[in-house]
Amino acid sequence: MMLRSNFKGAELPLIFQFAQIARNLSGVDGEIISLEQGQADFQPPDAVKKEAQNFIKEKPVHYTTIDGLTELKAKIAAKYQRENNLDVKQERISVGAGGSQIIFEALAVTLSAGDEVIVPTPYWPSFVQGIQVNNGKPIFIETALETGFKFDAQQLEHHISSKTKWLILNSPGNPAGGYYSAEELHEICLVLDRYPNLLVMFDEIYEHMLFDNKVHQNILNIRPDLKERVLLVNGVSKSYSMTGWRIGYGIGPVELINAMKLYRSASTSSPSSVSQIAALKALDTPLVDLKKQSRILEFRRNDVLRKLNDINGLECGTPDGAMYVFPRCKQLLGTRQPNRKKIVTDIDFCEYLIFNAGVSTVPGTALGLPGYFRMNFALKEKVLDEAIARITKAVSQLS
Ligand code: PMP
Repeated sequence: MMLRSNFKGAELPLIFQFAQIARNLSGVDGEIISLEQGQADFQPPDAVKKEAQNFIKEKPVHYTTIDGLTELKAKIAAKYQRENNLDVKQERISVGAGGSQIIFEALAVTLSAGDEVIVPTPYWPSFVQGIQVNNGKPIFIETALETGFKFDAQQLEHHISSKTKWLILNSPGNPAGGYYSAEELHEICLVLDRYPNLLVMFDEIYEHMLFDNKVHQNILNIRPDLKERVLLVNGVSKSYSMTGWRIGYGIGPVELINAMKLYRSASTSSPSSVSQIAALKALDTPLVDLKKQSRILEFRRNDVLRKLNDINGLECGTPDGAMYVFPRCKQLLGTRQPNRKKIVTDIDFCEYLIFNAGVSTVPGTALGLPGYFRMNFALKEKVLDEAIARITKAVSQLS
């Protein structure tokens, strides 16, 4: 088959492979506890479901405009005014099938072969896939538990070259929950000032999952003058537990938004109309409800952290936001399973957990940082308790 070289013999990224193993095993005995996923066990607001049902009953479900309904763009602009104190013109907004589509399209319309994109590790793998599929080259800035999984201005400058097109900045971050404060963003922007052609993809999809009274910082609040170089990425998947509805959006320079529109017109043509109506309603959710949700997550995070850090061989930093913990398992590498098989990598460790303890997680290698693994904690306490009890037992059987 005459496939492009990027696709010849290519396997799905590890994160999808692990999700598939979990699904297959769940089908067999239903006993797998799935902590590998990127979604909370919350439901979308009732008003959202009702709105979608009424729409289907009363209106024809048709294509919409390519990059989103005008009413939805108006809602997004109102949300940014109300929650983020940013004035956003509708012509700067593109609504797509999830933040994923926005990220992919932005890379597709800007990258030429060999262009570089700076990606801090650990990362959400779709960033890297989007870069590679579009013939770009990811340049990784490695972070670690000791630095809160964040990079600083100096590290950034060190990784910039004449080929750098984008910096990807995800705050709060997936998978390690790193959150950039106003001061940290300010320092990063001072570096950006020296490279006026460098674009910034600022992914704030976890903005409403933030703990310990932290206040989300948007790069354009810190530096409004960078507006023509920044693409904000957001969506309804995480804040309103609407992952399957597939609505996300980007806010950026008009030229970029228009190029993405052209690209979209040749691919999916428009986001789902029903889902856009649902998203419209979701964006009315009062901030107090979102804060309540964050408090629940914070409680779960604290509980999970306490128990994980009691397990010999695991070290876990405290995520400031999002819905994952990212423990280090390096001390367990080199140990043997009860069947004498050696655990050499974090992938081996996650395989051991899924096959022997029935708990599915994501190896750090799949997220660009070996020696760690990711667990979702946005699940009921009972489920998390059982998962941690299983992990504790499995780890205690390593020798
Ligand atoms: N950005 C980050 C950091 C994510 O973790 C995700 C989902 N896992 C997305 C963007 C995109 O989500 P969606 O396509 O559902 O909007």
